[in-house]
Formats: sequence, structure tokens, C-alpha cells
Amino acid sequence: MSNTGVNKEVDVLIVGAGIAGATLAANLAKMGKNIVVVERDLSERDVIIGELLQPGGVQKLDEMGFSSFIDHIDAQPVYGYDIIFEEQDYVIPYPNKNGEPSGYGFRNGAFLQNIRKHILSQQNIRVIEGTVTHLIEENNTIVGVSYKRKLATDEESVYAHLTVVTDGPLSEFREKLSKPVNKVNGYFLGLLLKNCDLPFPNHGHLVMGDHPPMVIYPVTSSAWRVLIDFKGEKPPRMGRDFKKFLLEEFESAIPQSARTAFVAAVEEGKFKTFPNHRLPASPIKKAGAVLLGDALNMRHPLTGGGMTAAFNDVLRLSNNLEKVKDFSNNGQIGKAIQKFYETRHLGTQTTNILADGLYGVVYNPDLRKAFFEYVSRGDKYAEETCSILAGLNKDKKLLLNHFIGMARYGTQLRITNSEKSKEKVTQSLTMVKDAVGIITPLLLSEKPDPGNKLMLEALNRMI
Ligand SMILES: Cc1cc2nc3c(=O)[nH]c(=O)nc-3n(C[C@H](O)[C@H](O)[C@H](O)COP(=O)(O)OP(=O)(O)OC[C@H]3O[C@@H](n4cnc5c(N)ncnc54)[C@H](O)[C@@H]3O)c2cc1C
Repeated sequence: MSNTGVNKEVDVLIVGAGIAGATLAANLAKMGKNIVVVERDLSERDVIIGELLQPGGVQKLDEMGFSSFIDHIDAQPVYGYDIIFEEQDYVIPYPNKNGEPSGYGFRNGAFLQNIRKHILSQQNIRVIEGTVTHLIEENNTIVGVSYKRKLATDEESVYAHLTVVTDGPLSEFREKLSKPVNKVNGYFLGLLLKNCDLPFPNHGHLVMGDHPPMVIYPVTSSAWRVLIDFKGEKPPRMGRDFKKFLLEEFESAIPQSARTAFVAAVEEGKFKTFPNHRLPASPIKKAGAVLLGDALNMRHPLTGGGMTAAFNDVLRLSNNLEKVKDFSNNGQIGKAIQKFYETRHLGTQTTNILADGLYGVVYNPDLRKAFFEYVSRGDKYAEETCSILAGLNKDKKLLLNHFIGMARYGTQLRITNSEKSKEKVTQSLTMVKDAVGIITPLLLSEKPDPGNKLMLEALNRMI
């Protein structure tokens, strides 16, 4: 079967030179493909998204031969997490046992400019600065896009055998290629803490307590990013008393050594917010096109898993496309895409489930206490949980065992410490039930595999 009538010299057209799109362009160029990328703004962005790359994402970059993307941007190695709960804390190192890499913190804009610099230097990649206005469809097949260059009034078009839509979290085109059920869980407010120390240098810090959760990690040698969660469908209202509110609510929860920097950042008032989505992947088959990155699938950024998921997908899609002998053959490309959609969960599902699962846990007072008590046991309770967070361990069954194990352990501790027998029974039922209630919809929204049915049955038996 051949493609539609338009003369196409371009193998792959990529909408968006963001984290996923630019890396895909770089990887496909290595395979000798002829590529066009259309990106609406090539200048360095100043954003609060994508600033901690988990070890699993670093590993995928290495596999593609792109570890140099992290060079010369003052990126900070990250060796693990400090989990802070009320007045206590517990440090969990990333596995690093078999020479696995550390994670990295950096400014997203600087990292992305490194990737873009690379693609701009490749002879078989043409990068156009312009905004894609629509996907061109002929005979039920996407054959290219129309775009407007910066400051231009006229539209131009570019045609390709395959169009990759990777226009990010606020994608305009995902509805053409999927049936999205997109939920905003809340907003992250980002601040930069300058010239201060945190309890553990080169570590991520998850701060939980009787306040919304915060994550803190290094992004340069002199700055830490703090992200504060604001639950709800609307962004926080930054009225007159907002600074006062931030100080009252969060200052005492920030580790002592960073409080002066926190107060200074609040006073400076350079607040940035971004919505946190949950978007399970729900692609529809459309000849000539594929969805990638946040346009396809999003999870809560509490665990910093988005770029790791994106690099897993980039590598999987590239490997499938590498096997396509004839890019003008729609059938061959269609099979490669179908296989990508059918198997991508093997690389991303644990990252997705853990992200939204942990988000549920930190807002449940009993479960977040149980989580802290569970990982503080050390040993496999900390190490295995952290290896999943790192994106290095993709064992879904192990994730479920720890998730439910955590609720059971919390229950056990309450029963041991409780004096009233009626209370014992109620608490024991509630915690496991809550954990099952959090994890079940997350499991169901991932692509089923043969083990899913058994896991769901086992979960149902628990409640
Ligand atoms: C608050 C927050 C914090 C996060 N923190 C982390 C973290 O610490 N670690 C982590 O791994 N992940 C994190 N993530 C997730 C991570 O940022 C994303 O998963 C990742 O950036 C997705 O890459 P992408 O290429 O899909 O989107 P993007 O990197 O946003 O790229 C999309 C690109 O498409 C371009 N574009 C859009 N529309 C058009 C158009 N019409 N025409 C042309 N170009 C267009 C945009 O300009 C942009 O360059 C965070 C997310 C949020 C919301």
C-alpha cells in the first residue's frame, strides 16, 4: 500500500522541539532519517517543569549516546532522596549497585538548549521556527502540517511520511490522535532558593506533613528548586496576602538551613505556576501520525518522572521505526506505531502508577505516616521503592507489593500501639482500603498485561 499523492521527501516531521521531540529528532537522525522539526519558540525557556532527571532517564540518554546533553549546564548529580516527615527524616540512596547512573538536577531551559543545539547541527535535520496551526489530512491519513513562521502572516506547509505530534502538556493536537481524559490535579508553585544548603547536598527532598507536599532539588551549583503543591482545578490566587500565607504555611516546614533563602525567595516574589495533569494514554489509530511525550501521557510531577517516561518512549518508538524498511509504505509505519502503543507501558507504567499513587498517599494523613515508617525500615523497603522511583526498576508487581505492604505495615503499627479493640479494626480496614482505592484506578488506566487481572482480583479480595 503506498502513501497518498503528495510528494514527500521528508521521512519524519516532528511537531515541537521540546524534551521528547528534540530527542527523537536526534535519535532518528543517527539512523539516517530525513527529518523536519517545527518548533514555535527556539529561545531558552525559563520554566519550572522538567528539572530533575531520574537515573532511569539518564540511563536511556546513555543508551541513545546522548549523555553529553547534560554537560556544560552546571547540572548537579543527584544521589537519592531525603524523605522529610514532620520533624524526622530518612535518606534513601538511588540503587547505583550495578553502575547505574545517578540522577541530575538542572535548569530545563539550559538542558533543552543543549539538545536543540545538537539537532541544529545535524545535516539531515531541518529545524523551522514556527507555530503549527493544523495537521493536514488526506484520505484519512495525516500527511503533514501547516505552520506560520514567527512574525509571518502566511501559512506554509510541510509534508512527510510520518508526523510525530509532541507539542507538550498543553497540546492542541492530542484530540486528533487520542481520546484524552485530561485531569488537572492541582498546580505546582515554583521558587528558587539561592545560595543555601539543604540537609543533604545533591539529594532530592520530599517534604511531607500537615501541609501540602513540597519537593526540593538542586538545579545549579547555587540554586535549589522548590515546588509547592496547590490542590484543585484552579491556580493559587496570588493576592495581597499571598506572601504572608506562604510564610505562615510553609516556612517552618522548610529545613532550617534553607529558611532564610525561602523567606528571601518569597519576598522577591518571582512566582511561577504550572498545572499538574493526569492523562492516561488513550491513542487512536491514525495513519501517518503518532503521539509522543506529554501530548500522549502525563502523570503527577511529584516524583519527577515525566522526562524519564519520555526518553523511554523516544527509544522504543525509534527502535520500532528503525525496522521500517520503506518509509513510503503506510502499512509498515502503521505496524511500527501500533507496536509502540501496545508495548510502551512496559517502560512507563511503574513511573506513572508510582507518581499518582504517591500523590494520593501524601494527602492521606494515615498513609503518609505509614509511608514514612515503611521506608524508614531501610533495606528492601527503602531500596526497592527508590529503584522504582528512579525509573530503573520496572517491576509492576513489586510496586504493588510495596504499596499494599506499606498500608499493611502502617495498620500493624497502629494495632500494636492502639488500646481500643474497636478502633483497631476500623483503622486496619481503612488504611488498606484507602491504598487499594488509590492504586486500582491507576492500574486500570495502564494497558492491561496478563498479570493485571490476577493483581486486581488480589486487590479486590483485600477490601
Ligand atoms: C510543574 C511540573 C514539574 C515537572 N518536573 C519534572 C521533573 O522534575 N522531572 C521530570 O522528568 N519531569 C518533570 N515534569 C514533566 C516534564 O516536564 C514533561 O514530562 C516533559 O517536559 C515532556 O516533554 P514534551 O516534549 O512532551 O513537552 P515539552 O518539553 O513541553 O515540549 C513541547 C514543545 O512543543 C512546542 N509546541 C507546542 N505547541 C506547538 C505548536 N503548535 N507548534 C510548534 N511547536 C509547538 C513547545 O514550544 C515545546 O517546545 C514536570 C511537569 C510539571 C507540570
